[in-house]
Amino acid sequence: MAEERPKYLIKAGKRLDGRKPGDARPMKIETGVIENAEGSAMVEFGKTKVVAAVYGPRDIHPKHMMRSNRTLVRARYDMLPFSVEDRKRPGPGRREREISKVLSETLNTAVFVEKFPRTAIDVFISVIQADASTRVAGLNAASVAMADAGLPMRDLVVSTSFGKIHDEKGKGHMVVDVFKPEDNWGMADIAYAKLPNLDKYVLLQMDGNVTKDEFFKGLEMADKSLDDIYKAQVAALKKKYMEGSK
Ligand code: UDP
Repeated sequence: MAEERPKYLIKAGKRLDGRKPGDARPMKIETGVIENAEGSAMVEFGKTKVVAAVYGPRDIHPKHMMRSNRTLVRARYDMLPFSVEDRKRPGPGRREREISKVLSETLNTAVFVEKFPRTAIDVFISVIQADASTRVAGLNAASVAMADAGLPMRDLVVSTSFGKIHDEKGKGHMVVDVFKPEDNWGMADIAYAKLPNLDKYVLLQMDGNVTKDEFFKGLEMADKSLDDIYKAQVAALKKKYMEGSK
């Protein structure tokens, strides 16, 4: 039986998990988690846990995808069967294919792709536990994993989600880092990514409706959160290399 929409997702400024509108869930970023990969990282946003592993630049298959003047960064996003409450059918469906395409486009913007013509860089993004915002967690993991692999990058990619959720009177409120009940029952959710130092927007995907003012309010809140995510990405990379240099 389908669950009923809760009467509210925010009341007196508090969300169902106790967060204030601008609060992200507790975040953890760790790099170098998969030895066999050239670069890797794990990102946790609350109960959402995602691992990324980078291989390449390497030969590209199928060959017809080869580009004579650049490498192709290919993200493969996968949500593992045990990562969600109702077991997910293994393998990529329509949703996974679409997310992989969008994340590939985003990641290509961060790499100096012309440095490695005729090759591919494969980025495997595996969701091991899902509590919404998995694609944006995946982008942060991929960004750190690509830097960990030593790829020449013009910037890191920082990413979060924001959304609109209803209070007990049905009024919408903008919030950052959407979790599952808010994704299921909220009025809108937006996946957002940026190259922070270049101040370039590289992903914006929206489900639902918001007004222009609500959008910019959410964006401002999300940008504050991206500052913390950027710092956490840099700290994770520094930690690994400081430890490695001891
Ligand atoms: N989800 C699920 N089963 C699915 C697809 C999604 O349980 O087959 C859940 C999962 O928690 C996911 C959330 O729905 O994180 C939101 O999915 P969405 O497609 O909005 O992408 P996301 O927010 O994870 O990037």
